[in-house]
Amino acid sequence: MNYIKKSILILLLCGALLVCTCCAFRLGLKVGLPRAASTLEKAIENILDVRQNCVRYNDRDTFLETITNLHPTYMQEQANWFDAAIKSGLREYSLSLEKFKRLDGNYAYADIREAYILEGRTREIVYPAVFYIEKNNDGYFAKDCGYDFLRMQKDHIILYYTQENQEIAQSILNYAIAESNRVCSAFEYQLNSDIIINLYPNKQAMAASIKPTLPDWAGGWVEENESIKMCRYPLYKAEDYARTVAHEIVHLILFDISGGNASLWLHEGLASLFEFASFDITDYDRMILNITQDLDSTFDFETLQYIEYEKIDNTFVAGGYYASAKVAAKLIIDMGGINAVKDICSVLKMFEKPNTSNIKDLIGITSWCTANAITNVLGISLEDFAAEYSRIIERIIAEDS
Ligand SMILES: [Zn+2]
Repeated sequence: MNYIKKSILILLLCGALLVCTCCAFRLGLKVGLPRAASTLEKAIENILDVRQNCVRYNDRDTFLETITNLHPTYMQEQANWFDAAIKSGLREYSLSLEKFKRLDGNYAYADIREAYILEGRTREIVYPAVFYIEKNNDGYFAKDCGYDFLRMQKDHIILYYTQENQEIAQSILNYAIAESNRVCSAFEYQLNSDIIINLYPNKQAMAASIKPTLPDWAGGWVEENESIKMCRYPLYKAEDYARTVAHEIVHLILFDISGGNASLWLHEGLASLFEFASFDITDYDRMILNITQDLDSTFDFETLQYIEYEKIDNTFVAGGYYASAKVAAKLIIDMGGINAVKDICSVLKMFEKPNTSNIKDLIGITSWCTANAITNVLGISLEDFAAEYSRIIERIIAEDS
């Protein structure tokens, strides 16, 4: 082979190699998942950064812009979460991408690590989240889309649940339909929209979605215009969720028929009462009221009306609060039936809705309104109502000892 032929061959070989490398590189760009995933990862990391800084620097508007409105109640829930987080004074709040899982259409699934310090305690949780991904000329953009839920609907109940609870979801849905029908018919209440229930995989995940300061004893949660939140307990069977659903639906109805003016004790009392069809004071209530007395924490009516119950840190005392509120709510029903409750709520609806997010003020205003509505509807002075309530509490405690 002469020099010229040799040179041409070397050039051709180099060219072929160059083309191959280039193709491989291009091919890698087009189908190489790690590369695509890392771009998506970047988009998710960006949105987590923004959210983290919004919490650190109290920027509510930008925080809400990081959320899609694809889930009907999620925006409101996140707004409430943000307000509670700011108020509780989180320190060193951080969000990071723990693991990118997959892209499904426009939805990216990932595990997120959330860490912060609250009341001197470091808290850390990893939870599955969904992001809505959009692509434009500048690359990928992610928006927070909520929890990694599956959806199931029957009649007027929409249940969001995670993969690991697939087995139990259908039964919980059936119990939820039966309980909502029972509670709604007792109040002669027509639902004006579907009831949304989120079933979180565990208590930690539920708490992280509600607010950083959620008391440890809270087993379910709902606020106005939000979904009902429950979580999976290892020992709970599907029927055990019937009580939680009934309890939370009472809250939803009361929010509506009282115009948001029903006091917390009336809320919790009626919600606890409706957990069982019989409206009875149970052996558990007797026991818990006795323990509360032993702990020197019996609730007189004044305390019941004005205590900031979320700040109760003893689980037994929290149970005592619920049982006491139940006694007071039952007293109203014993005096005037469910119609008295409905009339009280109608009176409450005439008051202006309290324009405050301060929980202490809210409790004060709603308790004052509720006291007025009770005296108005039952034709009894608040002193007499409080005295009768105390007599019943004493009698229940005596029955158990
Ligand atoms: Zn409740």
